[in-house]
Order: sequence, then C-alpha cells, then structure tokens
Amino acid sequence: MSTENLKKALVMGAGGFIGSHMVKRLKKEGFWVRGVDLKYPEYAETAADEFVQGDLRDPLLVKNVMSDSHWDEVYQFAADMGGAGFVFTGENDADIMHNSALVNLNVAHQAAKDKNTERIFYSSSACMYPEHNQLDSDNPNCTEDSAYPADPDSEYGWEKLFSERVFLAFMRNYGITVRVARYHNIFGPEGTWDGGREKAPAAMCRKAALAKEGDSIEVWGPGTQTRSFLYIDECIEATIRFMRGEFIGPVNIGSEEMIAMNDFAKMAIQVSNKALDIYNIDGEDFFNKYGHKCPIGVNGRNSDNSLYFEKVGWKVSEPLINGMQRTFSWINQQIIEGKKSS
Ligand code: NAD
Repeated sequence: MSTENLKKALVMGAGGFIGSHMVKRLKKEGFWVRGVDLKYPEYAETAADEFVQGDLRDPLLVKNVMSDSHWDEVYQFAADMGGAGFVFTGENDADIMHNSALVNLNVAHQAAKDKNTERIFYSSSACMYPEHNQLDSDNPNCTEDSAYPADPDSEYGWEKLFSERVFLAFMRNYGITVRVARYHNIFGPEGTWDGGREKAPAAMCRKAALAKEGDSIEVWGPGTQTRSFLYIDECIEATIRFMRGEFIGPVNIGSEEMIAMNDFAKMAIQVSNKALDIYNIDGEDFFNKYGHKCPIGVNGRNSDNSLYFEKVGWKVSEPLINGMQRTFSWINQQIIEGKKSS
C-alpha cells in the first residue's frame, strides 16, 4: 500500500511508556508512524511502522530522523527520567539536565531549520511548579500562571522549565508551531514497574503484588504528602485533543483526584485483595536502608484543569481506582510470568 497519502507522525521516546502508547493510538487513527528511542518498548512490540534506535542527544541523528519527510505531528517525549527514587535523590541531576536539555535543544533547532513539521508537542512536567506553592498538602497551587517566580524542587523540574522556554522561544523566533503540556503523574500498564525508575503507582502495585498476607508495604515519607495520578488512556486522549486544538499552552494534563500517599497505598492494597499493613519509612531508617535521604518531593501536588477545560473543552473523568485495578492486574501478571524491567 502506498504511504504517500497517509498522515505522518514522528514520536520521540517511542520506546518509553507514554511514547509507546501514543504510537499505538496514532496507528489506530491511520497515521504512518516513525518512532525513535534509545531502546525498543520493553513490554510489547512497537506499533510503529519504522523504529529508529538511536540517541537524540546526537544532532546528526536528530537531523536524520526529522529532515527526510513532512510531519503532520511530532511528539517529543524522550527524557532521562524516572520516579522519585531517580529524580529526587540528587544523584542523577547532572545527567538529567544534560541529557534531556540536549535532546530538546536538538529537536527544536532541527524543526526550525527544516520547517517541515506542522506542529510539535513537548511533554513538560508538574515538577516545574515552585515548591513554595506546594507546602500545604491539602491546598497545593498548580495553576499554570503560578509557575513564576520559578522554584522547582528538583533539577528535573528546572530542565522541564528551561525546555518549555526553548520550544516557546523557537516558536517566537523561527515560527515553528508548538504545544506544551505539563503532565501530572501518568500511570498504567506497560510502564516501568521495577528497577529504580518506576513511579509511585507502579511501585505501590508491585509491592502489594509481591506481599504475602499480613505483610506491610513500604511508603516513603509520612504518607500525608498528596498527589494526583492520571491513567494513560486519558493522558493520550487529552494530549491528542490539546495537540490538535489552537491553544499553545503550557497547560496541565492530569487528574484532579488528589490523594494522600498512605490512602493511595491502601488503594493498592484494596485492588490486591490482600490484608496488608503500611510501613512509613523516613529519616535515618530510610538512609540506612537506601544510602540516601528519603526522596519525598513536595508536600502536596494536584492538577488544576480549569485552563485545559477552558481552552480544549474536555475533561478527564476516570476514577483513580479503575486505573489502579488495571495497572495492578498487569504488574501482577508480569510477576507471575517471572518478568523484570531491564
Ligand atoms: P519513559 O522514561 O518511559 O520514556 C522516555 C523515553 O525516552 C525512554 O524510552 C528513553 O529511552 C527515551 N530517551 C531518553 N533519552 C533519550 C535519548 N538521548 N535518545 C533517545 N531516546 C531517549 O517516560 P514516560 O513516562 O513515557 O514520559 C514521557 C515524557 O513525559 C518525558 O518527557 C517525561 O519527562 C514526561 N512526563 C512524564 C510523566 C509521567 O508521569 N510518566 C510526568 C510528567 C512528565
């Protein structure tokens, strides 16, 4: 079949969690898709028509994957990232900043040079919001206009803020069309669930799946810190709707169902159908076990979706527990089959 008349999409970070789900979605819509990543997806075959394994820190590779075609949609998901155990310990700060910033600089620069992309989506993160607005676990402020004066609590957040500005600067000076969204904790099947880069939902599900009746599952910090979590299918839907609309962003993409981490652990226990307790580990105990201070992050964080609704006219609505049930089932199956993340 000729591919000439098909819409074309380029997905960077197509071997990762959100990127691999986005590739599937675009394929369902009939796009011809090229994926690029350092690695192939870990848990399923890629759905991409073409998958380039390569390093987007290399400007030549970026040129090779971007320049040879017209792109209707480009998604830039590639980043050196992980959950709290990776981004909040401080041990990976230099790599996170260097690696992700290089990728974003290369991609924005190449798009400006080629002028062959209709629009580029950049995935920023709620981690760029200032710590001083997230001290009260019951009332965090994460409206888009609260970003400045900037004071993220991690270098990961600073890099995201920098790269948002990179894409917006290239838009202003070179006329590329960009869309910038700030994701708040996306989770679901086929996401990293062990090995140190996993995020809280997967870690909670794994701990509950591995625990025996009567065991305790570990929660980092006091468990009063709050977050919200958005299921992957709604993240993809929200991203596509935003990408194809007129609003440039930055805009939050997340859930407004805020939950304290101990209650979140209880939810993981509930979906596991086991009788388990919670053990809050912090301070010296944490240090003795893991060799660094407990990476808790800000006290409170929740998505504020007012701007997204105003500009895009759609709302995420799926209850957290539904996504947790599906994620638990998938991780439990991985464990039963003896699989591990690489
Ligand atoms: P992920 O780690 O699963 O995927 C990122 C992918 O980028 C990985 O497959 C990795 O191999 C690839 N990559 C990293 N450096 C690369 C390089 N130099 N060249 C080529 N590929 C490279 O992460 P994810 O959860 O799918 O997140 C996707 C994007 O969304 C990231 O930019 C992330 O910062 C952002 N984000 C995610 C969340 C979340 O909760 N998952 C929240 C906020 C923001």
